[in-house]
Amino acid sequence: MTLTIGVLGFQGDIEENVAATRQAMDELKMTGRVQLVRYAEDMEKIDALILPGGESTVQSTLAAIQRSLPVLKKRIAEGMPVLGTCAGMIMLSKRVFDRVVGETKQKTIGNLDIVIERNAFGRQNESFETDLKIDMLGKGAFKGVFIRAPAVAEMGKDVEVIARHAGKAVAVRQKNIIGTAFHPELAGDARMHKQIVKMALEQKRKR
Ligand code: GLN
Repeated sequence: MTLTIGVLGFQGDIEENVAATRQAMDELKMTGRVQLVRYAEDMEKIDALILPGGESTVQSTLAAIQRSLPVLKKRIAEGMPVLGTCAGMIMLSKRVFDRVVGETKQKTIGNLDIVIERNAFGRQNESFETDLKIDMLGKGAFKGVFIRAPAVAEMGKDVEVIARHAGKAVAVRQKNIIGTAFHPELAGDARMHKQIVKMALEQKRKR
């Protein structure tokens, strides 16, 4: 079976996510395509989507201009697997506030039932790397690369925490949706991207 994995192509570390997804497919010995998506019609044709990190206010403004938020919302609600990393997790969340400026009122896709705190680790310690324990990915620490990272402040009952750091939830899963506060595409370890590719395969087999 051939999969098409989309990477949201508005802003942020798009190429790094394309590379990590290709690596994941190679390691799984799968054939498939990795495609940048920006327009509503592109989003109808993919089997899974990756939302890169970057600057969530810019990404949500561009997505709103392209009118792609409603179609993304619909496809994710239908069960399309999605991985949102850092700003990408902010894009998926229901409500957003910033540690310093409070409620940001930015538009989001909103399927992930969490309240997110942007820049949760403070400016003096904006970026760091740390080993994370993520049972879903099997044994062996996963390198968490945090760049002005958010954290999950509140979550609904369908949301499961899959990684914590410094007492904060930094990765969550809600059925077909995975959000990470860190950048798995910069870890040199394709396990998180493999997870989403496997979920896409399962979902496609069901249809
Ligand atoms: N601080 C950024 C935001 O709030 C996220 C940073 C990132 O994606 N590395 O959008």
